[in-house]
Amino acid sequence: MTSVYAEVIGDPIAHSKSPLIHNFWLAKLGVEAEYKRVHVRSGEVADYIAGACADANWRGANITIPHKVAVMDFVDDPFDVRATVGAMNTIVRADDGSVWGTNTDAAGFLEPITHKKLRGQRAILIGAGGAAKAVLFALKSIGIGEVTILNRSTEKAAALLASFGLHGRALPLEAPLEDAAVLVNASALGMTGQLPLPLNLAPLGPCAMVYDLVYAPLETSLLAMARVRGLETIDGLHMLVGQAAVAFDLFFGQPAPREHDAELRALLLA
Ligand code: NAP
Repeated sequence: MTSVYAEVIGDPIAHSKSPLIHNFWLAKLGVEAEYKRVHVRSGEVADYIAGACADANWRGANITIPHKVAVMDFVDDPFDVRATVGAMNTIVRADDGSVWGTNTDAAGFLEPITHKKLRGQRAILIGAGGAAKAVLFALKSIGIGEVTILNRSTEKAAALLASFGLHGRALPLEAPLEDAAVLVNASALGMTGQLPLPLNLAPLGPCAMVYDLVYAPLETSLLAMARVRGLETIDGLHMLVGQAAVAFDLFFGQPAPREHDAELRALLLA
């Protein structure tokens, strides 16, 4: 008998940690369901969705690189994600067989920083890609005062700031830092195989928090530098697990068993 299932689609897809996370939670809850990975190339997203939603056992999918923007053309958008975040990372099958999309990255990003008072404060954001969009949406939703974006392409960063209607500046990656309540790396720099971020953290004050979305490796040179400075740090696994938990509830109709986070984290690091 085929049980219900959800999956993650992307190109490449072998690296995705989502199957480990969701299958860990399904096993803990004793739920008869499965979470798989599917290699879907650019140009194949519409066919994938048409095939999947015809199967009543398919509950939905997480969307990863490079489909987070393209997928918006093929699903319903009840929460206006296209106009607000500008990228979807989760699609869900409704009871009538239609498919709608959302973005759980923003909620996942905010989960580990709810204790930090950021309203009216300055944030520094490195990067202006898909993850940066979710971060800007999240920061705007909690009333951030201004955002300085450092990015390889300053034009892209300026356009992003304007599209979110946020105060701030767009500067090149090499620009000297200013103090800020939080510095977020949402660029690819620092990932395995990429150069480290060329930052000097000295201008950050002692209350600044440094949040790196990169999770491979978990201990990036950015986080190591911040620890040397004695700054509060947040690594990328927090957001990864947080965004997955929101999607899990949408797929399987029950909250992820977060009391097992320490065990899950150890598995993700193994
Ligand atoms: P993306 O849309 O491809 O954006 C990549 C960003 O990195 C862009 O700002 C790009 O600059 C910059 N970049 C790439 N290569 C560069 C280089 N050689 N030199 C300088 N800048 C470079 O990717 P994404 O989806 O936003 O992902 C960005 C990072 O966030 C990745 O490390 C990803 O793993 C991480 N992430 C983590 C989570 C989580 O749950 N923890 C979720 C989503 C993403 P340009 O704009 O100039 O091209």
